[in-house]
Amino acid sequence: MDRKAAVKVLRWYLGLYKNWPALVTLKDKKKFLHDVLVFVVPHRPVGWPVLEAAKTATKKNREMDEKSLDDLIASLRANICQLVEAGIYRRAAMLPWRITPTIEWRESEKRFIKAQTSHGNEFYYSAVELLYDALAEYGHLIKTCQAPRAGKRGKRGNAATITQTCNDPFVAERPSGMYCSATCQNRVLARSRSKYA
Ligand SMILES: [Zn+2]
Repeated sequence: MDRKAAVKVLRWYLGLYKNWPALVTLKDKKKFLHDVLVFVVPHRPVGWPVLEAAKTATKKNREMDEKSLDDLIASLRANICQLVEAGIYRRAAMLPWRITPTIEWRESEKRFIKAQTSHGNEFYYSAVELLYDALAEYGHLIKTCQAPRAGKRGKRGNAATITQTCNDPFVAERPSGMYCSATCQNRVLARSRSKYA
């Protein structure tokens, strides 16, 4: 992944982390997963086994489908938040295991064989692994804004105002980027100008 693509990916996930959408109806949930899919697929082609099933299903099956969508969304959210926070706070993070080693009895051979079972669906792992890859290579571009917070005018010199920084997490274009927005950058410039005026 090149830096430009990684910045785009990290910004997208950070945006999700900051503003996780309220998903109330089944329609909301499907639209959300569809949006995630549309974002993830250009980076990692994945299948989509979940959404198609509900069309001809009975009420009970639909409820089960919705429950599995809820589980999928909850797992996605837990893993995305864990990884994004790892980026923000420079913490270690662990990915969910895709594969569990198992043993299975082979009746025809009258013995056990070693096997593996994969769980969750491919889409879920792709959505998490895309963030994982971007973080591993460019997670250092996630910063917390170091600009002083916008204070009330006339209160400059007040110790509390000086020590407070914006602290908003953002994804910098380059490692040297320090401020979340043009507004914060301009505030820093304005203050340093008035200091030396
Ligand atoms: Zn800021």
